[in-house]
Amino acid sequence: MPCPKVSLAPSCEIDLDAEGKHHGYVRIQFSSDRSAYGWLPMPIMSIKNGDGPVAVVIGANHGDEYEGVSITNGLYQELDPSDIKGQIIFLPAANAPAFYAGRRTSPLDWTGEANLNRVFPGNQYGSPTEMIAWYITNHIVPRGDAFFDLHSAGKSIDHHPSVKIRLMNDPAKDAMQMKFLELFGAPLGIVGDRVHETTLSGEILPLDKIYLSTELGGAGKIRPWIRDFAWNGMKRCLRELGVLQTDEVLPEPEHKVALKAMQTGDHYIFARKDGMFEPRVNLGDVVEDGQFAGYIWNLKEPWEKPEELYFNKGGVVFCKRTPALCEIGDTLFFTLSDHEG
Ligand SMILES: [Zn+2]
Repeated sequence: MPCPKVSLAPSCEIDLDAEGKHHGYVRIQFSSDRSAYGWLPMPIMSIKNGDGPVAVVIGANHGDEYEGVSITNGLYQELDPSDIKGQIIFLPAANAPAFYAGRRTSPLDWTGEANLNRVFPGNQYGSPTEMIAWYITNHIVPRGDAFFDLHSAGKSIDHHPSVKIRLMNDPAKDAMQMKFLELFGAPLGIVGDRVHETTLSGEILPLDKIYLSTELGGAGKIRPWIRDFAWNGMKRCLRELGVLQTDEVLPEPEHKVALKAMQTGDHYIFARKDGMFEPRVNLGDVVEDGQFAGYIWNLKEPWEKPEELYFNKGGVVFCKRTPALCEIGDTLFFTLSDHEG
């Protein structure tokens, strides 16, 4: 009999079929210069109580997006199996090496800049980030009925808070997703009509599963007003799904959601030169086509007139660069237009 091979693919310490409340790590095998026979810890938690819908709550798909981590941790610590019908699986730090490093991208891959949400469906024998994507694609996506992927903008960008769904042309599922937009309580609700390859949403939505993603601010910090409505919103959505069964009185959604369409290339302002970015509008402002947006000052020739920036396509200011220093090619702003329909 030939000698069998032993898998070095990611493995989970907890049994996701077990009833009750469990936590541990997905072990990402990583033989490194620092630790020859080591593995990287990706936290995973589960609360299961009988049959019912399965929700998956995800934080830190990008490692410097912190609101989702706080909400995911808080929900797991607060809830007991008796609060649940079905199961909630929690991945509070999906790109764990990036989260531990305080970075959007993982420094452990050969590029030094591995973006988890650009390597799906992953590779079980690839880099750490590719192995995480493979594990989620093959071991978490098949289990879930509804996915809540809690992004923010990260250190380089700030967002006016939003929730995004993609319509699936399934009346019942689309109605539930639209209900989630309303219940989450964010100021903006983005209704999309497309999904990108190599992303987590690109793995989930073609399977006709419910997927909701957020942009809960960003700039590498947590703001209480955003975290608070998203905390309540997450619970309102889990209750609507039927997985959360508590009789806790939850507040009404904190904001009446304004429906917006996904941005197109016309909505962006990119830096056309290196310099110091000075925005002259705020997130959440409504701007017109052609409206003045800000300056890029020349760093080493302060006597030179700054470059003036103008919005091509107006709408609500949804995204703004955070650091003042910028380089050609950086996104400085983008806007969102109203959702028609
Ligand atoms: Zn993100």
